[in-house]
Amino acid sequence: MSTLNWQQEIRKALSAVRELPCELSSVDGMPGDDRKIREAIREFGIKIPVHWQTKINWNDPDDPLLKQVLPDVEETGTDDGFVCDPTGDLPAAHGGVLRKYKDRALVVVTGACAIHCRYCFRRHFPYREHHLGHDLAAALDYIRQDPDIKEVILSGGDPLTLPNERLFLLWEQFERIEHVRRIRIHTRVPVVVPSRVDKALVRELNKRHRRYIVVLHINHAREIDETVCDALSGLRVTLLNQSVLLKGVNDDVRVLCELSTACFRAGILPYYLHMPDKTRGTAHFDVDEARAKTLHAGMRANLPGYLVPRLVREIPGADSKVPVA
Ligand SMILES: *Cc1c(COP(=O)(O)O)cnc(C)c1O
Ligand code: SF4
Repeated sequence: MSTLNWQQEIRKALSAVRELPCELSSVDGMPGDDRKIREAIREFGIKIPVHWQTKINWNDPDDPLLKQVLPDVEETGTDDGFVCDPTGDLPAAHGGVLRKYKDRALVVVTGACAIHCRYCFRRHFPYREHHLGHDLAAALDYIRQDPDIKEVILSGGDPLTLPNERLFLLWEQFERIEHVRRIRIHTRVPVVVPSRVDKALVRELNKRHRRYIVVLHINHAREIDETVCDALSGLRVTLLNQSVLLKGVNDDVRVLCELSTACFRAGILPYYLHMPDKTRGTAHFDVDEARAKTLHAGMRANLPGYLVPRLVREIPGADSKVPVA
């Protein structure tokens, strides 16, 4: 158990190549590629918080937890069809609010994350211009003026990187809007910095119950350990999980089934398995659709229906996430 508080855990994240306990060259294997790694990091810095560090097997270049956070020379690739905004977020942005679907609005509450996932589709997103730090009043107005919005999704970045006081205040402000029936929190923090799920957070969330949904983002069963289960065990809100299908991390039927069952043991139901978005610099994580369908069929053949997540892809302009299988 770490004795650091959650803010310290995030602050003590590994953030430079020289701090890494493994050789980057064991991954790229090519001398002279330092420049490419530097370029990748300049674009999207390294961030590996303490709990995650302790779970990585640093001696295994194929470790699925390491792969998610270790910069790779491939990130500087400019493969065809891999773009900066594959999900069409920018055209859907109204200040800090992203509106794509009729009855729900996504609010970018912060640009900060507790971890930097190399495959992230938001690695190019201009957070400086689009997050609530700038104009909470405008975001509240936007939602207040549209009674079609029944659900507010707090996302980012990661909403749980905000301190409790700020978070609770936000909840209150959204709850005060009559037509907002549900509040959803999309977060990777509970598996990355489990100590963040502190007593005050649990107490506040439970007080509100029913109307709150926490959607976790977990890609591999090893992300869920005892500490994570303990952290989540006090929550009495709906817990769901979304994963991204990632080459070299979880593109395997057994790995995906283990992820679902590990989620269930932690009280989390699988929600989505996302096709990786075609984000520039992430082509090395891509899984093609035919293979994704085969993997998904493998899950169906090995799990009860309630442990099989929906395999979806995001298509800009569509009125929901689009089912693939
Ligand atoms: C993914 C997403 C949602 C949530 O979609 P659900 O299918 O309800 O999970 C909402 N708004 C935006 C902008 C999204 O990208
Ligand atoms: S926590 Fe989520 S938003 Fe942040 S880098 Fe990882 S995938 Fe991207």
